[in-house]
Order: sequence, then C-alpha cells, then structure tokens
Amino acid sequence: MFDNLSEKLDKALHVLKGHGQITEINVAETLKEVRRALLDADVNFKIAKDFTNKVKEKALGQNVLTTLQPGQLMVKIVKDELTGLMGGDAEGIDLSGNPSVILMSGLQGSGKTTFSGKLAGFLKNKKSKTPLLVACDVYRPAAIDQLHVVGEQIGVEVYSDRGNNDPVAIAKAGIQHAKANGHNVVIVDTAGRLAVDEEMMVEISNVHRAIRPQETLFVVDAMTGQDAVNTAKAFNDRLDFDGVVLTKLDGDTRGGAAISIKSVVHKPIKFIGTGEKMDAIDVFHPSRMADRILGMGDVVSLVERAQEQYDEEEARKLQKKIAKNQFGFDDFLSQIQQIKKMGSMKDLMGMIPGAGKMLKDVDIDDDAFKHIEAIIHSMTPEERSVPSTLNASRKKRIAKGSGTSVQEVNQLLKQFDQMSKMMKMMQGGGGRKMMQMMKG
Ligand code: GDP
Repeated sequence: MFDNLSEKLDKALHVLKGHGQITEINVAETLKEVRRALLDADVNFKIAKDFTNKVKEKALGQNVLTTLQPGQLMVKIVKDELTGLMGGDAEGIDLSGNPSVILMSGLQGSGKTTFSGKLAGFLKNKKSKTPLLVACDVYRPAAIDQLHVVGEQIGVEVYSDRGNNDPVAIAKAGIQHAKANGHNVVIVDTAGRLAVDEEMMVEISNVHRAIRPQETLFVVDAMTGQDAVNTAKAFNDRLDFDGVVLTKLDGDTRGGAAISIKSVVHKPIKFIGTGEKMDAIDVFHPSRMADRILGMGDVVSLVERAQEQYDEEEARKLQKKIAKNQFGFDDFLSQIQQIKKMGSMKDLMGMIPGAGKMLKDVDIDDDAFKHIEAIIHSMTPEERSVPSTLNASRKKRIAKGSGTSVQEVNQLLKQFDQMSKMMKMMQGGGGRKMMQMMKG
C-alpha cells in the first residue's frame, strides 16, 4: 500500500530523522521534496502546496530548529498534518435505525457490489448484526447474480426481484422484507454507470428520497487517483452522501485519492477495501494510515486483527494438548488457518514498523503455507496425531501425494519437532527456568 509514496517521503525526511545537521535550508529542501512526493502520488497540486505551507508554518511557530530533537518534531508535524488532511478521527457509520438502511452508490466497476458484501459480512461478524442485501441494479442481470454469489459466501440473505425494473420499488420492498424477517441492517446495492450522468443521478436520488437511508456511502476506486476525487466531488454535488469507501488500496495505488478526498469533498473516508476477498475490508483510521504512509507501521491494527482471531476456548484446549504432549499436525494446521484469516501476508508485514520498506521488493507469496498444508493433508489422521509413525516409505508417499519432496516433508517434521519441544518447555515451568537462566 502506497509503497512509492512511503519511500519518497522516507527519503525526503531522511535528513531530519537525525542523519545530518538541521538548518533552515534543509528544512526548506525537505519540504520541497515532500511536496514532490505528494504530487507524484497524484495528490492535487493545491492540496500539496497547502500541506507543505502548513507544515512550514507550524515548524516556525514551534521553533523547531531550537528544540532538542528537531528532526523528530518535524516528522511529528508532518504526521499530524497528514492525519488532519485525511480526516482526523475515524468516523463510524450510523446504525441507529431499525432496520438501519445503508445505500451504496458509485460508478460501475468501482467495487460497489463486492464492498456491499464485505460490509454485510463485517456487520454480521464484528457487530453481531443480521443484515439483508438488496439488489437494485435493474440493468445488469449479472449484477444480481453477483450479489447472490457474494451473499452466499458470507452467509447473508439477498433480496432481489428480477421481474421488476423499478429500483425504488425494489428498495422499498427489500426494506419491508427486512422488517418482516428480523433483519436489523439493510444494504442497498444500486446500479452504477461508466461515468457520472444525469440518468444515474436521477435514479439514485429517487431511491435516496424514497428510502431515507441512515448512511449513503460512495464507493470509489483508489487506483484512479485524482479522477476518484473528481468523481466523488461531482457525485456529492448532486447527492449529499455521508462517507466514502476507497477500494483497491491493495493494488498499485499511488495514494493521492486517500490523501485528497476529505479536503476536496469534505466527506470522510469511512472504509477501505484491500482485496477481492470478502474479509478484505478495514475501517479507515486517518492516524493509522498516516503512520503507514510514513513507514511507521500500524501495530494497533495488527494487534486488533490478532485479537479478532483469538478464541479463548480454543486456546485453552490447545494449552491442555501441549501439556499432555498431544499437539499434532491437525492443531498445527488450524493454527496456520488462523494466521491466514488475519489477512494477506504482505499486508500483515506492512503493519510492522520498518518492515514495509524492507519488504518492498520482496514477493511475499500468500501461498507460503500451501506446501505445508498439502503435506499435512496427505497424512492419515493417525500420522497427524502421532508424527513419530512417519517412516521412510510413508514420507515418500506423503511427498508424492502432496506434490512436494521427501526433503520438504523432513523439513516440516523437523520444524514441527522443534516447535513442540519449545512449547513443552514454555509450558512445564520452562519459561520461568529460561528467564532465570537469562538473568544469570
Ligand atoms: P461494481 O461494478 O461497482 O459493483 O464493482 P464490483 O464489485 O463488481 O468490482 C469490480 C472488480 O473489482 C471486481 O473484479 C472485484 O473483484 C474487484 N475489486 C473490488 N474491490 C476490490 C479491492 O478492494 N481490491 C481489489 N484488488 N479488487 C477489488
């Protein structure tokens, strides 16, 4: 995410981060570089200029050059300004209605249908809601099918009416259906067009007027840079929406849209989409995003994701198994699956401070676990729970079955063995023993 911008800002701020003497000249030079980095990221010219002017003003006001750690203070000023530019605090969505109605709008291909599904899944799994998805794209039958596919993936009901070509009527009937069937959130997916046109605006305004949603979200593709900002503005001039959803931030996005939208459209970014899968959705936190852009990682989000996957009951069971020496490959497999649920590897690594820069050119394969999983899947249940039964011929069979080599099977067994020993040690008071040893 924003690798180029991060790298350029890092270079620009290098001097200030304590790698040289700070003078008025290099502060000015730095700000010029910062501005160039923003422009390269497709940030609007005026915004980039205002941004560096504000940073300069603040730096002067706080007498940065005479403070003890001028570099750090400058970086903090840049971070605060960047956070402010993107909206300050994270803004939630209004779920006060019963049902709460959320209207989705945006151009065709922006990721509206995908996001409707992601949001429904998010509200179901993380906010314990019972959402209903309503398909109001009456022009493309494929769009209705797509919403049904998405609904099935996340286990959320989808309301559609293929015989009806009036989006207002479908939206209203969908809300009635939700009321009658105990859904407390309704997400209405509407038809997009290739560009903002009169017909689309009239249609979405009619739906908006008829259903009076608590939230109207505008979905926009971050990869389109300043175009995304312009489209959001044109749309907002006609339909006063509540928030923006920025999709495809996982792609080769330059970042300009994320940085400029708030100050051009005066509407907050509320969510971001970071992949094609249903769980690739995040609440937008300006300050965390600023941290990521400045290469400071995002530990808060990382810990949150880990906590979301943490299941106390499972953890207790696992602890018992380890204590009894019963930790087997099935448990190993479920641990891997939990890690995978936290998100893509590159995304996770990017949240570790400093790691983003180091890993910029490393191709982190999300299928890194694929071989391990294939090997475990090729084992019999008995072999999984008692790995010591794996003799040479069994290893050969497993390697063949999983499309790997005996070497890889051996390597996994060795890693597994080491891990089991370590866990055993941590369990049996070994942790304390280790601590004592370390203290000497
Ligand atoms: P709609 O026409 O606005 O409903 O757009 P769709 O939901 O059909 O999405 C268009 C394409 O973008 C599809 O191929 C999606 O898989 C893809 N897409 C949607 N959101 C994301 C995202 O956050 N990241 C990536 N990489 N692709 C996305």
